[in-house]
Amino acid sequence: VKRNPNETEFLQAVKEIFDSLIPVFAKNPHYMKNGILERISEPERLITFRVPWVDDQGTVHVNRGFRVQFSSAIGPYKGGLRFHPSVNASIIKFLGFEQIFKNSLTGQPIGGGKGGSDFDPKGKSDAEVMRFTQSFMTELSRYIGPDLDIPAGDIGVGAREIGYLFGQYKRLRGGYEAGVLTGKGLGYGGSLARTEATGYGTVYFVEEMLKDKGLSFKGSTVVVSGSGNVSIYAMEKAAQYGAKVVACSDSNGYIYDPNGIDLKTVKKLKEVERKRISDYIIDHPEAEYYEDCKTIWTVPCDIALPCATQNEIDKVSAGILVSNGVIAVGEGANMPSTLEAISVYAANQILFAPAKAANAGGVAVSALEMAQNSARISWTFEEVDEKLHQIMINIYRESVNAADEYGCSGNLLAGANIAGFIKVADAMIVQGII
Ligand code: NDP
Repeated sequence: VKRNPNETEFLQAVKEIFDSLIPVFAKNPHYMKNGILERISEPERLITFRVPWVDDQGTVHVNRGFRVQFSSAIGPYKGGLRFHPSVNASIIKFLGFEQIFKNSLTGQPIGGGKGGSDFDPKGKSDAEVMRFTQSFMTELSRYIGPDLDIPAGDIGVGAREIGYLFGQYKRLRGGYEAGVLTGKGLGYGGSLARTEATGYGTVYFVEEMLKDKGLSFKGSTVVVSGSGNVSIYAMEKAAQYGAKVVACSDSNGYIYDPNGIDLKTVKKLKEVERKRISDYIIDHPEAEYYEDCKTIWTVPCDIALPCATQNEIDKVSAGILVSNGVIAVGEGANMPSTLEAISVYAANQILFAPAKAANAGGVAVSALEMAQNSARISWTFEEVDEKLHQIMINIYRESVNAADEYGCSGNLLAGANIAGFIKVADAMIVQGII
């Protein structure tokens, strides 16, 4: 706390993980030696840089760019880029820290990193977004590479931004290093099923968790927050599994459609037209729009999938979900539940799929994209989707087994943290004090 004053999100993420490692230290005290905890919670490197760009009117703007290279214990740094006005060092560090354990859980050889900028893509023209991303990459390119650090997308960074980032990197390097970014378009080295991976993966994980209790998505009512990349594909897979998704949101408000959300309309609004979710009711007058995204958790549901942003479910919202009869919460977004909300789930025996396990499908398929780039091959959609499904089942099993082994059966949050930590800590021990 003393070393990182005001970094509330980062401290929250560290506390969540360290608290759940207590049984590991009790059983294996050697994990407390060699400064493992001090080293794992201090980034190998945190880079911040100026990003100047010129808008369509000729006005100069200056944003701040970040890249945290948190841990290379088990592989090159890997993690997305977020463009959102709320981005600061605390948010980038929390995301980079979580990424270490998530990446470890995937079973792929990738370390933890994250980056982004306080640039707000909303309301900007294509040309402005292009000039900004080119300026951002001009600086970032010094620190990344296919065997060093491989960024991807996150909030505000989708196919368009990855395309501009890749183009500028290529121009600066003068060579075609396909493996330097993931989430690329299919025509220039992207992987099939990467777009779907995080949302599908979250639903695969939650379905596995439900199955263990004799339950399923089939016939359930689901609420999904957000309407971006993760939300859209979580809604799609949940519907394919026979659920009825009745609400989704953006940062302005949420829609409730008693007939089930029409995903074609959401995709058109969000992936093509870049419009607000409120416009959904133009095509669907039977639906209702509410101008406050936080109140989406008042909509009764069996399964809640928070897929928008950090700390979107607090203690009060968690209490409302419980009193409305929720049976499971699956985190598609990173750290969407506050620590108090997680305590509410635990106190009420709500099945809880924690982000770093449940949303690891995106980065897992990113690693598969890197593998395809290296081997100069591309797998079919079905091949990648099958690998993703298997990876999510493995992550679920590993989390369950680690929780059992360390005396916290049924606590997937602890299990995921423990399983992710042990692999990284073992690699740190054999690599010496670095
Ligand atoms: P997108 O930018 O595609 O979508 C984000 C969605 O969340 C939008 O609907 C956005 O609304 C909404 N949102 C963003 N900020 C807020 C806020 N402060 N309050 C309410 N709503 C908000 O991002 P992604 O879908 O890629 O990412 C969503 C979450 O999933 C993030 O936590 C991200 O870190 C996590 N994640 C993403 C992965 C990926 O592969 N993309 C992988 C693993 C985790 P609006 O358009 O109004 O801003």
